[in-house]
Formats: sequence, structure tokens, C-alpha cells
Amino acid sequence: MPLYDFSCVTPSCGRIFERLLQLSEYRDPQPCPDCHGPTEKILLPSGLNASHFDPVVVHRDKAGNIRYPGAADAPLPAGFERVELRTFADIDRFSRQVNVSERRKIDQEVSRQQHAIDVTESRMRPELRAAMARMTPQQRAFAEVAIAANNARRPRTTDANFFLEAREYDGSNREAYRDVRSGWKARK
Ligand SMILES: [Zn+2]
Repeated sequence: MPLYDFSCVTPSCGRIFERLLQLSEYRDPQPCPDCHGPTEKILLPSGLNASHFDPVVVHRDKAGNIRYPGAADAPLPAGFERVELRTFADIDRFSRQVNVSERRKIDQEVSRQQHAIDVTESRMRPELRAAMARMTPQQRAFAEVAIAANNARRPRTTDANFFLEAREYDGSNREAYRDVRSGWKARK
């Protein structure tokens, strides 16, 4: 029974998963296991299937730090283990794990910065109040608007947005299109 990869089309989900399908099931819709929404088959260039591709190799240590070796057979740094990503689903799962840990680092950095801003602001507040007492009514109205806008500000959030190029099967990251020594890539 052939193995097929499917990708959820709901942008907020985007789950990738695998299914073994009989030929008679080839056209059956395969709802997303996470959000139960519609999905589409990931189609590889004709004549290829996922088992023809070399695995994507990454090195990972116990703390979850990831290194990306330049070659699949690169020597393993001390404390790291070799992880092979063989299928789309493997790569998707890996990308999600990296995004979660990168997101945690970003959140820690944002809250560290926010704390520094809060400390500075609380130090400046008495000075600000004294300065406002000397302002004209127009200046004070302007300052109050600026302070209200500042207080209403939401904490910044951002997505880590990590993804592996291996998922982009457009052929440009395949050997026929690149020079191994220089890393040069042909445009399609
Ligand atoms: Zn989904």
C-alpha cells in the first residue's frame, strides 16, 4: 500500500500527516487529524516519491539545541545526537518543535525587555508629573494622549516562523540545479 503525505489547507493549522492508502481510496478526502478541516495531497515531481530523497539530518543535544550540519555525514559534535528526518511528517513535526522552543526564547526576551521598560518608566514617572505641572494646557492634553496610547500598547508578539527548505519541493534545492562546491543555485 503506498504512503501519501497530506497537508491541512487551514492556514492556522497546516498539519502535515501521512496515510497508507489503497488504490481504491486514492481519491477519498482525508480530513485533518487536528482540526478535521480539508486537506490536500502533497504531490512530488513525477517519477519521484518521498523514499527517493536523502533524509534531512540535524544534530540535537539534550537541551533541545539544534545544529544544522553542512553535510549529512558531518561529524557529530560532543553531546549531540544525529536526527534523521525522512518524511514530510517528520519535517513538519520537527519544525513545530523548533518553533515552540524558539517562541519560548522570543517570549523570554520580550518580557525581559518589557521589564526593563517598566523599570525605566516607573523611575521617570515623578519627573514626568513635575514636567506636566509646568506645561501649558495644550501641551498637557498632548502628553495625556501620548501616555494613554502608551498604556494601551499590547505586548509585542511574533512567530518564530522557522521552516526547513526541504519542504519546498520546487527542485531548486536539488543537485541538478546547484553547484555543490560554491552553493550556487540556478533560478527556475
Ligand atoms: Zn488542520
